[in-house]
Amino acid sequence: MKIGIIGAGQLGQMLALSGFPYALQFRFLDFGADAPGARVAPIVVGAFDDVAALRRLAGEVDVVTYEFENVPVAALREMAATRPCFPPVDALRVSQDRILEKELFGRLGIPTPPYRAVDSLADLEAGVAALGLPCVLKTRRLGYDGRGQRVLRKRADVAPAWEALGSVPLILEGFIAFDREVSIVGARSTTGETRAYPLAMNTHREGILRVTVAPARDARLQRAAEGHLRRVLDHLGYAGVLTLEFFVERGRLVANEMAPRVHNSGHWTIEGAVTSQFENHLRAILGLPLGETRPVGHAAMVNFIGTMPAHERVLAIPGAHLHDYGKAPRPGRKLGHATVVGRTAAERDTRLRRLLRLVPR
Ligand code: AMP
Repeated sequence: MKIGIIGAGQLGQMLALSGFPYALQFRFLDFGADAPGARVAPIVVGAFDDVAALRRLAGEVDVVTYEFENVPVAALREMAATRPCFPPVDALRVSQDRILEKELFGRLGIPTPPYRAVDSLADLEAGVAALGLPCVLKTRRLGYDGRGQRVLRKRADVAPAWEALGSVPLILEGFIAFDREVSIVGARSTTGETRAYPLAMNTHREGILRVTVAPARDARLQRAAEGHLRRVLDHLGYAGVLTLEFFVERGRLVANEMAPRVHNSGHWTIEGAVTSQFENHLRAILGLPLGETRPVGHAAMVNFIGTMPAHERVLAIPGAHLHDYGKAPRPGRKLGHATVVGRTAAERDTRLRRLLRLVPR
């Protein structure tokens, strides 16, 4: 069985690695011949909107998936007419537009921050008047890792934010004074079988995920998050792994966004759960029984952003697992991560503190 993965970044690389024990074979599509995935499977080199390249990939494999959200929907739809493609193209379409995403959440009874579409300075002024300050202005499409967004704290921030972002359609969101941020990763198979992982607690800085701690161990929030996740999965007739990110505001989940793919906040599952998110994604798109999502201990994942610590310093920490994506260092770039697992939350926290000393604060 050959699987095509659109995008050969670290997510694609980890997906392919998790499929090797099943004797699965992989091909990537990426514009860079030296993307991280190149070390584990051949890359069809081409742009993500290049229908001919997508068709070439499809021609070499039995099923196609993607690790990258900014694949043009029209190009993917054309390709999906020739080969099964999971997660469904419609999930990708919704996730690419923050307004469609929030409309879907609204229809499914999932709370979101209050929001307004912004297509003019007048819309922005009206939105600020309606939602109040502070609020967050974001591009509707193509935002990731906090790019394309501004927090508006005072009236004087409005015009410069419009100057900076206003050339494309925007969304204005009410600012959520959250207690913490959490995410839930789950999988739905082509057979309809569904499983969810324990909630993970996430810390972001400058819009980029820095640390994930899991399991969050909050039975009430877990139930609520699983309910939200299952509604989205079933509504979309989903197959594969899906991630929902939430703010926790006064004990209540408020949905921020969804990702129709394996997710950085699920990396802890490689060593911290019975079955990793990557393995479950493959099982889900191949219609195989899903693996158990139970945690095996207490895990914390730290991203290495901009610089990699010395491998030996990470590996000197008991219970530490290192993932170096083999990428050239660049400020703000995710170069790798490490996960520490402990038998107790206290042991995990001690190991996490040691790991955090290795990253710039
Ligand atoms: P996003 O790209 O939407 O995931 O935003 C990146 C990060 O910015 C989030 O993880 C939050 O830490 C912060 N953020 C985004 N939207 C809001 C909001 N409406 N209220 C408060 N913080 C936000």
